[in-house]
Amino acid sequence: MQLEIKDLAKTYSNGVRALKGVSLTIPQGMFGLLGPNGAGKSSLMRTIATLQEADSGSARFTGLPEGDLDVLTQKDAVRRLLGYLPQEFGVYPRVTAEAMLDHIATLKGIANSKERKEIVQGLLQKVNLYEVRKKNLGTYSGGMKQRFGIAQALIGSPRLIIVDEPTAGLDPAERNRFHNLLSEIGENTIVILSTHIVEDVTNLCSDMAIICLGEVVATGNPNDLVTELNGKVWQKSVEKSEIDTYRQTYQIISTQLKGGKTRLHAYSEVPLLDFEPVTPDLEDVYFTRITERMGTVTV
Ligand code: ADP
Repeated sequence: MQLEIKDLAKTYSNGVRALKGVSLTIPQGMFGLLGPNGAGKSSLMRTIATLQEADSGSARFTGLPEGDLDVLTQKDAVRRLLGYLPQEFGVYPRVTAEAMLDHIATLKGIANSKERKEIVQGLLQKVNLYEVRKKNLGTYSGGMKQRFGIAQALIGSPRLIIVDEPTAGLDPAERNRFHNLLSEIGENTIVILSTHIVEDVTNLCSDMAIICLGEVVATGNPNDLVTELNGKVWQKSVEKSEIDTYRQTYQIISTQLKGGKTRLHAYSEVPLLDFEPVTPDLEDVYFTRITERMGTVTV
């Protein structure tokens, strides 16, 4: 089972080219789609979730027991297999989590009330909201709302789950809880995690892509992408006033303020005088690929 996206393009009516021919193969498991704000992640996710049209290109869901699906035209069939947690996730404030999940399960075609009850109770336990199931959604914290969002996305045992920027705005403990929950989702599922937070992908994903300005700029296994950078990242602490001079000479991939000084990370295939070698991580991969397109990123 995999999702095969080829040459997907989208230009909005205001002229913004959000997707410029995106091609990606997304296998089973947790797939991280990483990119800065405005990269085109949501545009891609909404297209795969059948919520908006692409101008050109194709997206196929292959290897399903019921046969391949054309995601762009067989929308109803795709929706039956889909669980979606959108970026903007509104809840009805005066409805309890339990009543809302029951309602969504009905909409997803689970007609038998006993079966529905079992599914809803099971999901509430899975996302750790069982104790607060009778509370109105309006009283939930950000993290609780996100976990509720996952519960609603899981109704109907979807084969494809899309979560768009799920941890933005969550505190570290809530984010951790959310990561644990995502990592428990079944193995026979494709989970696409769209995010601008590198740590989300480092912790969770076995495959990933980086997109920037509507184009794929890297794909692969996160560890492999990091390994490719071994011996090519160098660091140096400089005064803030010196940064621009360094930028003119070196390929600076990120700058980070540390203890009053600025720590530069530079990309170079050969050692740089006065710089120290760095063991690269996924942030270095991300910033290298992004700066190649957009210039230096300040963390
Ligand atoms: P991301 O999810 O990576 O932040 P988006 O897909 O939301 O990126 O946006 C990609 C680009 O398309 C941005 O420049 C954004 O302003 C623009 N955009 C997104 N949605 C619309 C829309 N409905 N109409 C016009 N422009 C849009």
